[in-house]
Amino acid sequence: MAEFCDVALPVPVHSSFTYRVPDSIQPIVGGRVLVPFRQRRLPGVVLKLHDCVPKVETKDLLRVLDTEPLLDGQLLNLGKWIADYYLAPLGEVFRTMLPLGAEFKRGIVYYITDHGQAALHLAGMSGSSARSRSTPQDQLSEFRVLEYLTARDSARAETLRSATRASQVVLANMVRKRWIAREDVSGTRQATRLVKVAVLKQAGDKLNPSQKQIIEALATAGGKLRLEQFNALQLSRSSLNTLGRNGKVEMVEEPAEFTVSQAKPRLLLSNLQFNAAQRAALEEIREQVDATNFSGLLLHGVTGSGKTAVYLAAMRTVLDVGRSAILLVPEIGLTPAVAADLHQAFGDQVAILHSALTDPERAEQWHRIKRGDARLVVGTRSAVFAPVSNLSLIIVDEEQDASYKQEEMPRYHARDVAVMRAKMANAVVVLGSATPSLESYFNATKHKYTLLELPDRVEQRPLPEVEIVDMRIEFQETGHEQVVSRKLAEEIRQRLDRKEQVMVLLNRRGYSPLVLCRTCGKPLECKNCAIALTLHKRSHRMECHYCGFTSPVPRNCVHCGSDYVYFLGTGSEKLEELLHGMFPQARITRLDRDTVRGREDFERALNALNSGELDILVGTQMIAKGHDIHRVTLVGVVGADAALGFPDFRAAERTFQLLTQVAGRAGRGNTPGKVILQTYFPDHYAVQYAAQHDFVGFYEKELRFRSWMRYPPYSALANVLVRNDDLDKALNWSGILGKWFDRTTHDGIRVLGPAAAPILRLKRDYRYHFVLKSSSRERLNALLRAMLTYAAQQKIPRTQINVDVDAIWLM
Ligand SMILES: [Zn+2]
Ligand SMILES: [Zn+2]
Repeated sequence: MAEFCDVALPVPVHSSFTYRVPDSIQPIVGGRVLVPFRQRRLPGVVLKLHDCVPKVETKDLLRVLDTEPLLDGQLLNLGKWIADYYLAPLGEVFRTMLPLGAEFKRGIVYYITDHGQAALHLAGMSGSSARSRSTPQDQLSEFRVLEYLTARDSARAETLRSATRASQVVLANMVRKRWIAREDVSGTRQATRLVKVAVLKQAGDKLNPSQKQIIEALATAGGKLRLEQFNALQLSRSSLNTLGRNGKVEMVEEPAEFTVSQAKPRLLLSNLQFNAAQRAALEEIREQVDATNFSGLLLHGVTGSGKTAVYLAAMRTVLDVGRSAILLVPEIGLTPAVAADLHQAFGDQVAILHSALTDPERAEQWHRIKRGDARLVVGTRSAVFAPVSNLSLIIVDEEQDASYKQEEMPRYHARDVAVMRAKMANAVVVLGSATPSLESYFNATKHKYTLLELPDRVEQRPLPEVEIVDMRIEFQETGHEQVVSRKLAEEIRQRLDRKEQVMVLLNRRGYSPLVLCRTCGKPLECKNCAIALTLHKRSHRMECHYCGFTSPVPRNCVHCGSDYVYFLGTGSEKLEELLHGMFPQARITRLDRDTVRGREDFERALNALNSGELDILVGTQMIAKGHDIHRVTLVGVVGADAALGFPDFRAAERTFQLLTQVAGRAGRGNTPGKVILQTYFPDHYAVQYAAQHDFVGFYEKELRFRSWMRYPPYSALANVLVRNDDLDKALNWSGILGKWFDRTTHDGIRVLGPAAAPILRLKRDYRYHFVLKSSSRERLNALLRAMLTYAAQQKIPRTQINVDVDAIWLM
């Protein structure tokens, strides 16, 4: 038996920790153990069992939490690859990979000992504990604790302390005197969701009609109904309570059954007609899956070309041969309707993982996958870690979407992790998009991926015609700043007359994005960030879109007290108001983060549009993502080009993608669509190529710029950000690292900085950054690793340095 074990812990330290294994317990590699760490007890993942005596003193493992490995060899290796590639502590990577937080409970309980019983007895007789050196107050506390514990088997630490107001010191003293004992009950527990169920006990006479209705409903349902079904069946809760009191019905709690979605499915897999390009793409995917070797495919299909149908058919193939598949979708892409489609196609074989699940729900899904009950997994970013066995296929839908990049530690990109996981599993990875990222398309042109094209929309529907409106000319001709151009207004009017539908995109939420003082000229900024606050008119407050800070709408300038504050610019809330004014008869709804709180709200607005209850849908980029509304024949784009002014090398790519995506919403039914694209940059190539639906044209032009500037895909790029809420510290630390970079040789690596980050202050932190570019990823990562070692020697906290490898956001 191994004497020692190496454990990865969820702490910001780049090494594992060695513990001694007591004879009584048997840890396993890939399973979790509970260990003492500084003043705490932490769960960690066992990496290795061995007999090499460590040079430093070791502590004992406390307990084994899993008797079977949670992470198999492949997932352990994937975790190590992520830790290495993204310079993230391995324990933090494993924490992200295992969504089982709900199963681990920390807890301390106390109970009274025989000594304690005796002391209590004595104190009761003499009124004090004579031999104690405690102060009178402490004696009183001790007495209360003993009294409290003698009345029960044990008590949790928090309960005991709040009931007796005993301090930690008093309790520790009592443990030392052996009056009470302390036990650590931290550990795992099965996180099961329970629901209330009404169970039929006996039929009866003398029932009123609503009671009779309940008894009948229960009998029809086989004697059992979940309480949540009562509303849908219009059964009375109060009658149910009466039946409960009379013993006719019993209420019990049962583990919740898994339901993928309550929504109605929209498409039937068996009804899908595939065109030639779809069939060819599907054939190629099937061939690669059959070959059981790694291969990467890039599925480039224009908007509306039927990529989803190809995904589902490919997943069906995998399921039929008894293997597993994972489908990754962007954050907003996984609506209840998509889940319903999948459930319709695959039944209980499908598991869903996304960020709106509660912790117990996520743990439940995870176990279904681990047990092999669900062999198809659909989910957002972290579903790439789903513990499927026999993995054959990973599909990444909208592979260019920014939500695949995690913007906190570990800063992994789910698309790139998917490619690596497929390599390790000898599986096939399919990256799908209407607007592939430069990196992926570049890889396809270099034959690292096989390129599959779906050049046409389904049923030969044409791509929409795009008309550009130059807003500079609009200003000259009308004499004032327009939000909705004359051309767009005219086109909307025509659609309303013809009972067709319209979407209008303005990618900025709120009412006015800027408040300025006419007297001193200063803007109103967030307390925590160097960012202007946005006016939200309906909620009547100012809001920071970066940290969520809110403040009342100012009547006077906060800087000089002047009355002359004015509100500038237009957000989606104001656009909605303007459109109401222009088209008072039209039914208009807005879709942005202020109106959408959950997936259900999002789905509701889309359903209203689908069923014809809406004429105009206004919104941010949320409206641009992959849904399919047949009667939308006009898309208006109002100020989607603001990003072109950002100091970020991906600005053009993002703008091109957004314009293409939103234009793709038009004309997905039988009537051809049209797009009115209002812009202040009509000559910019991102705008021009988007208007011509010319991905390859855009790609080639953008690639020349990237090559010239040595940006990805021509280099590996990392953003190193040093931050602190104390400006001096942030400056000092970035200076220390800057000097280190200067005197360290780093051939073939360009280091830019330190420089103030484009957003100097964010969420209270002052921020300075370095941008590193290199054609050699190995050398880049070696330099970053050396920098982190140096930073640790200089006592710069690891938590105050963000190392973002393949950063997609340099702000
Ligand atoms: Zn002022
Ligand atoms: Zn803020």
